[in-house]
This record gives sequence, structure tokens and C-alpha cells, in this order.
Amino acid sequence: MELKLPDKVRDFMSTVSRSGYEIYAVGGSVRDLLLGRNTADTARWDFTTNATPQQIQEIFPDSFYDNTFGTVGVKIKSKKGETEEIYEITTYRKEGKYSDRRHPDEVVWGRTIEEDLARRDLTINAIALSYSHEKKSSSKSYRVVGEENIRLVDYFGGREDLRQGIIRAVGNPEDRFAEDALRMLRAVRFAVTLQFTIEEKTFDAIRENAVLLEKISGERIREEMVKILSSDYPADGIKLLYNAGLLEYILPELVKGVGIRQPGHHIHDVFTHSVESLRYCKNPAWLVRLATLIHDIGKPVAYKELDGKPTFYNHEVVGAAIAKSIAQRWHLSRQEREKLYILVRWHMFTVSELLTDAAIRRFIRRVGPENTADMLDLRIGDRLGSGSRETSWRLEKFKQRIIEVQKHTPSVNDLAVDGHDVMRVLGTPPGPKVGEILNKLFAEIMENPAKNKREYLLSRIRGISN
Ligand code: ATP
Ligand code: MG
Repeated sequence: MELKLPDKVRDFMSTVSRSGYEIYAVGGSVRDLLLGRNTADTARWDFTTNATPQQIQEIFPDSFYDNTFGTVGVKIKSKKGETEEIYEITTYRKEGKYSDRRHPDEVVWGRTIEEDLARRDLTINAIALSYSHEKKSSSKSYRVVGEENIRLVDYFGGREDLRQGIIRAVGNPEDRFAEDALRMLRAVRFAVTLQFTIEEKTFDAIRENAVLLEKISGERIREEMVKILSSDYPADGIKLLYNAGLLEYILPELVKGVGIRQPGHHIHDVFTHSVESLRYCKNPAWLVRLATLIHDIGKPVAYKELDGKPTFYNHEVVGAAIAKSIAQRWHLSRQEREKLYILVRWHMFTVSELLTDAAIRRFIRRVGPENTADMLDLRIGDRLGSGSRETSWRLEKFKQRIIEVQKHTPSVNDLAVDGHDVMRVLGTPPGPKVGEILNKLFAEIMENPAKNKREYLLSRIRGISN
């Protein structure tokens, strides 16, 4: 197999190598390179070395050092001298003790690349790639020989697992997951994004140890969930999380929907319906996908049987509150939190040809013009995810209506009276008062467009001015 390193990476590695240190690329970029994916622009390159952070900083004077993880960030400049990307270079480490199953008690330096690779999570992530220059014996100058200077270091069968599409823990999975429970979620994440299969022992160990995920911070969980939700098969990802026993510790509120039956056109229980809605949501944004997945998360709480039939009154209100607590747990940004809340809170909007423009305007105002398209994507996923073969023509019509209503969103200029009318009725000269009155009239017709009649508005001017 011919491995081609981007020039920038080669230059960087040979700079370190020429200074007399070992340097290896590791992690995602090596994995992608071996999978034949484009690594030049997309992947983030991570490196590991036997040089200490101080020694790396001597080679790259404008690099910066993150003390907690022993990682040095090196700015890679473009030809014009602008910083293009940051390469992270970490001194060999070995596994420390994890008393809290979250953070190693201390970062322990490793001596060899083998030690460093042994502490990594999955075999496919534990392949290192070295690039070294060759020393000419006759001269003091160094000569960089083409790509044949690439060597792969693979102690754990990572290349074979990559070839076969297998996710396997490095070493004993039980121990590795007990050290850091996030690795279980990462195993699922890589299975989903790469469409690989989790090897049996690794999968069993995840099922056994799933509860340890409780110790993991919301931020770390969110990072992996965002990747699962952003993948090509997010719904299968959620199912795999459920089957692995992890979902219970990530979104317990969602798992409560298992076995909760629904009336009418629904063919699924609440949980399956949620997952299927996600499957049919065609929106690429993870946040909209998350909202689609959890849109009915209030149903298990709101469930009541009436005359032998399940009902879920106000589930969107309960659900929005749950959405808020999930958003907090995952430390979403304020904007993300608000959007998630809105999408869950208002997903029950009526879609009918009988809606007035005012009702549509109210919908747009509640949801926010920036969210209406996402709200409709959620609703289409919702509909298809409940077993309908097609989206309803009403939804399509509703979309058209929203576009039209937004196209001519009325302004003060659309009022059936103008400033001259106001001045004439009140006998006042031009001034800010005239504008104020027009704005108040406008607020009235926004609520009820039928009131935009000249006669009526003329009669209102005096009332409003008092
Ligand atoms: P990507 O960046 O494409 O999501 P990645 O494999 O590079 O994938 P990172 O989170 O960037 O993932 O981690 C870089 C490398 O660090 C991994 O490939 C793996 O070798 C190691 N690693 C990351 N997290 C852990 C962990 N929790 N336990 C052990 N090793 C880990
Ligand atoms: Mg990475």
C-alpha cells in the first residue's frame, strides 16, 4: 500500500526527527490515511514523541504548552506566514492509575512508543506512523528520502482490524473500560461513524460495564454524541447504544419510552418512534437531529390512560423541560439550549389549510424565523417515523404558506392609514408621536389582519393617542 503524507506533515515530522527525536503520527489521521481517506485538510494530526515538552518547545519557539496533558501545540504556518493549523504533539505516556475512573491520577511519561500505544483505546487508534530522514554517512547534512521512510508500528493488530472493519479494545477490554469508561462510548462512536462491527469480547465488556458511564462528565459524553448524531446513520447509532446498554446512562429519559404504546396511526412504541423519527429526519445538523430524537421525550411522563386509550396531553411542555435538563447536563451553549427547547416545545403545531396568516405569523414568532425550516424537518421525521409512507401534503402546503407569509411580512407601510391621516385626525404637526401611533395600530393588525381597514383605523387613532 502506498501511503502518501501531506507535505506539511512530512516537513513537520522531519524537523523533529532531524533534531534527534523519535516522532510518530497517531490516532485519527493515521487511521484515515490507512482507510484511504483524504487526510490533508480534514483530519487533525496528532503526534507522539520521546522528546519532552521543553525539548519540543526548543525546536518550535512559538509553540505553546498545555501543562495538564503534556501536549504541545505547534502552529503550522502557510507560505504566507499565517497560522493554518495546530499540530498537537504529546510526549510518550503510559497508563496511569484511574482511581475515579475518569482522569488518570497523574500523567505518567512512557519510555517507548510501545508503552504509548498500549494505553490507547482501540486497536485501530493504536497504529503509529513514523517518518524519519536518512543520515548520509559521508556528510553532515541530512537527506530526506521520499515516502519509503514511512514505517508503521502496529503492536495490536490495528491494521488487520481496519481491514476487517472491527472495533476492538487494546488489551483486556474490562480493564481498559474500568480505567476510562468513555472508551465504551468511543467504541460505539467509531463503530457508527466507520460502519464497523464491535468485536464480541469488547462488546460484552461494554454491556458488563455500562454503568461506569455514570462517572463520565456531560461534556465528554456530548462530544461523542455529537459525532454519532452527525454520522450517516445516527438512528442505527442510537440503537447500538441501546443494545450495548449505554443509552440508559446517556439518555435515560429516552429509554423510558421503551414499551410505551401509542394510539391511532402510530405503529411503534414511543422509543422506537423516536429512533425512527431520527432516521427520517433529513436535516444534517446534529442539534436538529437531537431535537427530533427527543421530541416526544415527555410522553412517558405525560402518559395517562383515558377510556382504555393512551393519551399524552401536554407532553411537549414536559418534554421541553426535560430537553432543557439534557442541554444542561451536556453543557450546550446558550443558543443550542434555547433552540433545543424551542424545537421540542412547539413541535405539536397544527398543520391545516384553515390556518389564517395571523396564526402562521404567530407560529413563526414562537419558533423564530431562523428555526422554522428545522422545525418542519423535525415534523417530517416525526411523521415518517410513525409509520406513514409519505409526508402529508399538508406539511408541504404549510411550508409554502410559511414562505409566502414571510415573503410579505407586513410592515407599517401596509397599514390602511398613514402619517398624514394621523396628523389630520389629531391636528398635530409631524413628530415622534405620529410614528408611535402608527406602531400601535400596526401591532393591532398583526394580531388580527382583518382590522386593517381604513374606517376602523381612523376611528382608533384618537383612542390610541389618549
Ligand atoms: P477523531 O479525531 O477523528 O474523532 P481520533 O482517533 O483522532 O478520532 P481523538 O479523540 O482525537 O480521536 O484522540 C486521538 C487518539 O488518542 C485516539 O486515536 C486514541 O489513540 C487516543 N485516545 C483518545 N481518547 C482516548 C481514551 N479515552 N483512552 C485511550 N486513548 C484515547
Ligand atoms: Mg483526532
